[in-house]
Amino acid sequence: MEFVSKKIKKHNFSAGPAILPASVIAEAAEAVRDYQGSGLSLLELSHRGPEFVAILKEAIALTRELLNLPEDYEVLFLTGGASSQFFMTAMNLLPQNGNASYVDTGSWSTKAIKEAKLFGNIDTLASSKDKNYTYIPKGYTVPNDSTYLHLTSNNTIFGTQYHTWPATDRPLVCDMSSDIFSRPIDVSRFGLIYAGAQKNLGPAGTTLVIVRKDMLGQTGERAIPTMLNYETHIAKSSSFNTPPVYPIYVCMLTLRWIKALGGVTAMSHKNQEKAALLYREIDQNPLFEGTAAKEDRSLMNATFVSKRPELDNEFLAACEAEGCVGVKGHRSVGGFRASIYNAMPIESVQTLVNVMQQFAEKHA
Ligand SMILES: *Cc1c(COP(=O)(O)O)cnc(C)c1O
Repeated sequence: MEFVSKKIKKHNFSAGPAILPASVIAEAAEAVRDYQGSGLSLLELSHRGPEFVAILKEAIALTRELLNLPEDYEVLFLTGGASSQFFMTAMNLLPQNGNASYVDTGSWSTKAIKEAKLFGNIDTLASSKDKNYTYIPKGYTVPNDSTYLHLTSNNTIFGTQYHTWPATDRPLVCDMSSDIFSRPIDVSRFGLIYAGAQKNLGPAGTTLVIVRKDMLGQTGERAIPTMLNYETHIAKSSSFNTPPVYPIYVCMLTLRWIKALGGVTAMSHKNQEKAALLYREIDQNPLFEGTAAKEDRSLMNATFVSKRPELDNEFLAACEAEGCVGVKGHRSVGGFRASIYNAMPIESVQTLVNVMQQFAEKHA
């Protein structure tokens, strides 16, 4: 399996749904037509049949293997997006009137805090809102009575990422939607990890949840609807109701692709190389500047602005002319954002860098 497809049509820098490996797209397309010579499309196969049962089993096994998960962690593929995890985490983990700590590093954290407040006493220990979320707050103390500390590991919109985890003995609960499988992690620090698939794992439609079993069963009298209870999905291996068969299949293919290329350590090396190439240009180019604090820069979403905003539309057009799409920044930051997830080849990053250089020369 090659890292770079010869048949790249466009360089997809979108933040999500986002680029997938070309070989995964090809295999997923074939499965829609005819799943492994079965004479049926994967779209019409039963979720209780042997084909999908094997797919789900492999997706879970690959997640365990790639992240080196200890036995006491469960792997779930759920629906409702990462956004449903904002409330499901608190609902399933917090004791009645329990406490949890949160760090506010942007829109996704803010939403997680809002939802968690429905279920307990939520203490926002630190926030980078004072500087439009351009940095990761550090140097706070996590109270001993916090059930967990919630973090957003990579801030997709603001282009920041944790490169070290806060010092605390409280379990971390982490939204890893936009950097899961991009680097090795010490899973033992985490009580729960969740990630919407559509950034770095697969298409929209499923959410990966990894939970340590001892985090559960502490909620006392709280009534939890069956579908929103992690225990339901653990007991029924993510098939209590009809799971999103096709999204889970594409995630499984992506996980196979990650493994074939050397796992999350290999991904991390590639990602560092790509990010270094892009940030070097952002720093050197006289027309552009990065928006995030250097030590907190995301290796997944590089945010930058032009020093001559009147040229913004012309720059986006220059990107499009070279096939670079999805470079426009999120409305809350402005400027530009290049998302360079696992599946993004370094050649595509080089293409964007070339466009930036040529653009600066033209306007020198
Ligand atoms: C995209 C994103 C979300 C929202 O995911 P949905 O699946 O659309 O609910 C949450 N957190 C982060 C970090 C994201 O990047």
